[in-house]
Amino acid sequence: MIHLLSNQITMLVLKFGGTSVGSVENMINVKNIIKGEGKKIVVLSAMSGTTNTLVKISENIKKGEHEIALEGIETLYQKYLVTIDELLYNSELKQEVGNYIDTVFDYLKSCIGEPYSQLLYNTIVSQGELLSTFIFSHYLTQEGLNARLLPALDFMRIDRNGEPDNFYISRNLNRVIDEILPADIYITQGFICLDADGQIANLERGGSDYTATIIGSVINADEVQIWTDIDGFHNNDPRCVENTHAISNLSFDEAAELAYFGAKILHPQTVMPVRKFDIPVRLKNTMQPEAYGTLINSEIHGDGIKAIAAKDTITAIKIKSARMLQAHGFLKKVFEIFEKYETSIDMITTSEIAVSLTIDDDKYLKSITEELEKFAMVTIDSDQSIICLVGHSIIFHEDTHRLFQVLQDVNVRMISYGGSNNNISLLVHTDDKVVTLKKVHSYVFEGAVLV
Ligand code: ADP
Ligand code: ASP
Ligand code: MG
Repeated sequence: MIHLLSNQITMLVLKFGGTSVGSVENMINVKNIIKGEGKKIVVLSAMSGTTNTLVKISENIKKGEHEIALEGIETLYQKYLVTIDELLYNSELKQEVGNYIDTVFDYLKSCIGEPYSQLLYNTIVSQGELLSTFIFSHYLTQEGLNARLLPALDFMRIDRNGEPDNFYISRNLNRVIDEILPADIYITQGFICLDADGQIANLERGGSDYTATIIGSVINADEVQIWTDIDGFHNNDPRCVENTHAISNLSFDEAAELAYFGAKILHPQTVMPVRKFDIPVRLKNTMQPEAYGTLINSEIHGDGIKAIAAKDTITAIKIKSARMLQAHGFLKKVFEIFEKYETSIDMITTSEIAVSLTIDDDKYLKSITEELEKFAMVTIDSDQSIICLVGHSIIFHEDTHRLFQVLQDVNVRMISYGGSNNNISLLVHTDDKVVTLKKVHSYVFEGAVLV
């Protein structure tokens, strides 16, 4: 592993999400957080709402809705003009940033009427991070901080499997840093990257968290900090359940399960790059920096159910065949079909005559179903949600069995218990998700006995 700036004592990677750079007030908060001692790489998302708008604009272009696309572009453009008007008083810097914004929006307008492609989409949605980092790095210069822009597209790349190409990233990140003038703060774009062919791509929605930990792992950072709009990792989804609270400590394994099973605060892959190097990840609130937040590392704290998360748009597939288990090679045949269509399975339960499993990517569902139907009866249930309960060794915890009593009036389609010591998963219809989250929450965290 290459150690960037090896004479540095501490090296931090700080990532700020959409809300954190979504208003002038919050950008000032970010400046105050990063202006202290030590070298930093600062990863920024697009200003909140921008990526969603860019996704809509590219959908409009795809559907030939030219007027609507143009309206979307104009409205977004005005938002950026207002932002730099409030943020930048240095007229030279303001002019430079204004010119850049014009170039971006001229490009977006030029996309209207272009034939739609994945590359067009990727290029359109990349503009949000390009804008936020250009604006923010110039703002820091205006404020007298020694900050430089580090273009993510010069070093961040994924391979043909969509995995970070660590060798390429490490070599090029160090090269880019050597080439530009020394700085205390390097600002780079989250989310965006190149693919194996050198075309513009991204790390999927919410991918800036992943950018931060990928960078953290290749430079062997002391810590990766994810700054967002909430005071840490909560014990349940605060958008669905009241009275949730931040958890002070999570192990890498717990955080990885929760992120994978839907906790929106972290991109599903966030923990992967840093776990093997034992680089801690700290979640902090940009609007409340004094709050402790959540520290994710290899330590294990507490037992019993610690947090609950939910993942939507799950499809359940039941595959039924007479004498399934005794029919030697049945499961192998099933799994080979999912392997062929590169579709990963999240939950699985079996009986003598049937196997039920879930997938969250239904791109090849039709082909998978057709192949399975050659030797089994197949039933598909869409609009399912996985409710995932996480905690160290929860399957052995003395209170965990009572979970099943609380679920007596919720229609559970599947249960996965024992797959890992730290996870119990329930599959419910998405219509029942919120009520299930609330019931489990009251029981587990508020000691309620529900009927
Ligand atoms: P950012 O733009 O900073 O990346 P996100 O919107 O991606 O922020 O993630 C933060 C949001 O995640 C919170 O505002 C909250 O609504 C939501 N969220 C969902 N589950 C959790 C959880 N378990 N803990 C904290 N926040 C959660
Ligand atoms: N801006 C991107 C998104 O909205 C990436 C991120 O926010 O992490 O998905
Ligand atoms: Mg996010």
